[in-house]
Amino acid sequence: MSPGSGVVVVGAGQAAIQLTESLREAGFTGPVSVVGDEPQLPYQRPPLSKEYLAGKVTADELALRGSRFYTDRNVELHLGRRAVRLDRDRRRLTLDDGTTLPYDHLVLATGARPRPLPVPGGDLDGVLNLRTLADAREIRSRLPDARDVVVIGAGFIGLEFAAVCRAAGLSPVVLDVAGQVMGRAVSAPVAAHFAERHQRDGTRLLLGRAPAELVGGGGRVTGVRLTDGQVLPADTVVTGIGVVPNVELAEAAGLDTGNGITVDEYLRTADPAISAIGDCAAFPDPRGTGRVRLESVQNAADQARCVAAGLTGTPHPYNALPWFWSYQGDLRLQIAGLSTGHDHTVVRGEPERGFSVLCFRAGSLIAVESVNRAPDHMAARRLLAAGIRVTPDDVAAPGFSLRSPLARTAETADRKAPA
Ligand code: FAD
Ligand code: NAP
Repeated sequence: MSPGSGVVVVGAGQAAIQLTESLREAGFTGPVSVVGDEPQLPYQRPPLSKEYLAGKVTADELALRGSRFYTDRNVELHLGRRAVRLDRDRRRLTLDDGTTLPYDHLVLATGARPRPLPVPGGDLDGVLNLRTLADAREIRSRLPDARDVVVIGAGFIGLEFAAVCRAAGLSPVVLDVAGQVMGRAVSAPVAAHFAERHQRDGTRLLLGRAPAELVGGGGRVTGVRLTDGQVLPADTVVTGIGVVPNVELAEAAGLDTGNGITVDEYLRTADPAISAIGDCAAFPDPRGTGRVRLESVQNAADQARCVAAGLTGTPHPYNALPWFWSYQGDLRLQIAGLSTGHDHTVVRGEPERGFSVLCFRAGSLIAVESVNRAPDHMAARRLLAAGIRVTPDDVAAPGFSLRSPLARTAETADRKAPA
């Protein structure tokens, strides 16, 4: 793209800010504008459910970059402003205050929002979501007075929040419709370990149970009625039942959307002047599991780098290895790869000292989930990114470690290299 052209980014989250940084690093000198509907400087979300709620970091420390980052790089921020209309024919974006921004390339980095609770009572005082800094501030301010906490959803948010509650001396109840915790993200052995540890440390876990209604008095929540009629007392209810991607702007502009904004392997929509990245983008999985939409910092940042490369003359298909983490009390979970569709697992290590679950599909390693075993995670990322095939037989061989296939491949390459 020529230096005189402008890039406009909708959304001022992890993906958007990485894009601005990567564009400037790659020498892009044209105008760059970022529009975000939250009022504060763009910030990191991961600490919201961990260190921030635990009172270990302040809101200011969450900023992705200081204000000088934007001035030094001549990045125009439109914060507290919502993009409301996209005119693809004229390549113009309209904001909620009537401002119009022309673009040569538009990047949709609109993220996702909490899935609304599908039962009555979600509007009672004391029922809270956890997505934004404003949400986390609200929860943090209420925690000191909370007594009966119910968490709906045993995904990442629900379990990370439960660990924070326990550290604050509370005994939360966590319920989930699914039969295992973190059902979308981890294998059965890891889920079982986390369930056991959360319960041992004081969380009451109700799996396979769904809320029917949140009940209250005087506008405040007092309990959660389950579908079997049981009522759990509650003065604080936090929901973490997944997210829905923010696709409405794209949809209204006639772009293809489903579970996310549809993009190709270069992260472009059907309109070559528009890309989508991060939590809102549904892209073809380079490892062949179909169209996926991932919700992680790695995905947001690497997709931003990919689009920036495309806009500055070095386009390449998006093929970064997905990886994730979640910290819950003293449990450090790190995941390399996507375990979707795995049909075999091998556990290495010991539950109490740290272990990894190797997930295979059709005889090949596709993901490694490590609990308090960071070296395995780092080796797994290198191994899976390099596309080195590892089978269950390889893993059963005496002396196998996740580093050994990497070392073998390096030795083979050395032998083949001309002297
Ligand atoms: P977002 O960060 O959601 O940013 C999108 C922004 O766009 C939002 O501010 C949104 O309000 C704004 N926006 C949307 N529509 C418009 C519009 N029309 N006009 C203007 N602005 C708009 N991931 C991990 O990998 N590890 C973790 O430990 C982890 N912990 C997390 C903890 C919490 C509490 C949460 C909520 C998420 C966590 N995640 C974690 C997920 C990670 O934060 C997200 O995947 C990442 O933030 C996605 O970045 P994004 O830029 O795509 O979207
Ligand atoms: P999540 O990980 O998708 O988990 C939501 C859980 O709630 C699922 O187990 C889901 O079960 C269950 N659920 C759905 N409807 C329910 C209902 N009506 N009643 C009870 N349970 C219900 O989502 P999340 O924990 O809300 O996290 C939201 C977002 O933040 C995601 O993008 C997540 O990746 C991100 N995040 C990431 C991290 C991390 O990577 N460490 C940490 C925090 C947050 P089904 O699957 O059966 O629907």
